Amino acid sequence: MKLFDPSLKFFKGNTHAHTNNSDGHVSPEEAMRMYHAAGYDFLAITDHWFVGEEQAYNGMLILPGVEYDFTFPTQVLHLVCLFRDAKHAEGIRRGANHMDVISQVNAAGGVAIAAHPAWSLNTSEFLCSLDGVDISEVYNTLSGEPHNGPRANSEGILDVAAANGKLFNLVAADDSHFYKGEQCVSYTMVQAEELTGPAILEGLKKGRFYASQGPEFKNIEKDGNSILIETSPVCRITACSNQYWVAGRCIEGDGLTRRVYQAQPGEKYVRFQITDKQGRKAWSNPISLQ
Ligand SMILES: [Zn+2]
Ligand SMILES: [Zn+2]
Repeated sequence: MKLFDPSLKFFKGNTHAHTNNSDGHVSPEEAMRMYHAAGYDFLAITDHWFVGEEQAYNGMLILPGVEYDFTFPTQVLHLVCLFRDAKHAEGIRRGANHMDVISQVNAAGGVAIAAHPAWSLNTSEFLCSLDGVDISEVYNTLSGEPHNGPRANSEGILDVAAANGKLFNLVAADDSHFYKGEQCVSYTMVQAEELTGPAILEGLKKGRFYASQGPEFKNIEKDGNSILIETSPVCRITACSNQYWVAGRCIEGDGLTRRVYQAQPGEKYVRFQITDKQGRKAWSNPISLQ
């Protein structure tokens, strides 16, 4: 079984960005100009509680999106929501129950993404309770140094949630506010029939994507307990799972482009992280072994 469809093109996009419609430092037009200049195919502008309209910028697709936040005693939930149409967000107001918001987004054919769970201090129990949220940010550029603290990477908490039964698919995003160079670093490659909002959302719902900062996954193929990974040249391929100890979890070399991983007894899922010479990473979605 191939995770990607060889007949479909990948589109490069950032699913999380802010402008001066909330607390970002630049206008929507300037945000679009910067991502377009960096070669992106799509950008979601996701201001806090402010829904942007779908539009095109010199061939780059702008998805209607928003970031909602909810506060709990020991953690916050930030939900990046992408819509087929901005009007589908009508009626969602501050103070809404987070599960009601998730239901409304899904009922309208949109996608709700758990943003920066490590930064949000989310617990595994909380993440596992988010029925209707099937995607999480695995890496959020702004949550890292020097922009913020050392919690850009959410792999640790997402592995705990996955070991407890909640397998999130993984996007990487900048959460760009255009403060200090955090834009155009972490992105998601989505396979879609065409570059339209509904097609990109379909690719996200079907899990036909991977998260990256540079390295590429070219093919991921599961055959029983054997998983073939083909990549652009990288110096490390790491298999992550619910198991504490796995012999040979991590392989290193010069210009690695291929690995065949044999899932170990007790592994319920496996996902792959690849690292290139410059230290840039990419993350596959978890592959269920059950
Ligand atoms: Zn946030
Ligand atoms: Zn944000």
